[in-house]
Amino acid sequence: MYLQRTIRQKIRVEGVGLHSGQPAALVFCPAPVDTGIHFVRSDLPERPSLRVHADNVRATSQATTLGGAEFSVATVEHCLSAMAALRVDNLNIELKGPEIPIVDGSAKPYLDAILKVGLVEQEAPRRYWYVHSPIHLGEDQKQASVFPYNGLRVSCTIDFPHPKIGKQTIDIDINATSFEREIASARTFGFLKDVEALRARGLALGGTLENAVVLDQDSIMNPEGLRFSDEFVRHKVLDALGDLTTLGAPLLGHVVLYRAGHDLMNRFVRKIMATPECVRLQELGSAPPALSDGSEEDRKREFQLQGVVVDRDTTRPGY
Ligand SMILES: [Zn+2]
Repeated sequence: MYLQRTIRQKIRVEGVGLHSGQPAALVFCPAPVDTGIHFVRSDLPERPSLRVHADNVRATSQATTLGGAEFSVATVEHCLSAMAALRVDNLNIELKGPEIPIVDGSAKPYLDAILKVGLVEQEAPRRYWYVHSPIHLGEDQKQASVFPYNGLRVSCTIDFPHPKIGKQTIDIDINATSFEREIASARTFGFLKDVEALRARGLALGGTLENAVVLDQDSIMNPEGLRFSDEFVRHKVLDALGDLTTLGAPLLGHVVLYRAGHDLMNRFVRKIMATPECVRLQELGSAPPALSDGSEEDRKREFQLQGVVVDRDTTRPGY
């Protein structure tokens, strides 16, 4: 079987809030087994928390927003995508204000922070969403599907009517190594006309060429250009991985996306959870023969594949 993971110790990430433009910070904190990933407002009375789960997704127009009775938090998908790639099961993400730092518009600073402190296994098995029959969701030229697959693979196609974007496709097996190399540093992007409209409403005040790729009518405005020639579709994979964390457990499947945005992803996640004839929550080791038998060799292989040093020291206090 595979054990749940949290991080070894607290670590802080700083930046500015996308909308307010004011300094913002978050602290990743270890969390006990079976708690999942939560955002915690450590500055509010009784430290209210909000679980990363599809039921708590409130808005999906520009970014994924989680909301509960006491607070909401927007643009969660970038830091969560790193958790999907590293298979972090339990984590508290503490905030002292309404916004998380946008950092450089990618997931790289969050990934670097987690890799710096390292991961630690916990004394409880992880459960996966194991897909055994395909699930589809399609509407208005936007589609999402998941097929049985022994791992997590994402095939993503975008198609924007802009000369610098156009049609882009990527197909990638997601593990810590591939995520770090191919996906984590792909930045969010936006169009100048949309940025101007947001600013007129007092939003996106923290959005700059330092934390987004911005396109005008026919060119890229960032003087440094792109980090990858197909940075746009890579960022869409990053976003999709973040949104998949709202399943509350890692997905074993091949996800195929065509022009999928946050709204479609939220409905897709809900559909996966509501289709028990095609998917089930289970531990590896109790899986059908096509999957791992959960032996020590398999465990080592998974860690090697993910390229992450995982400590088995679970005796340390603090989580
Ligand atoms: Zn994004």
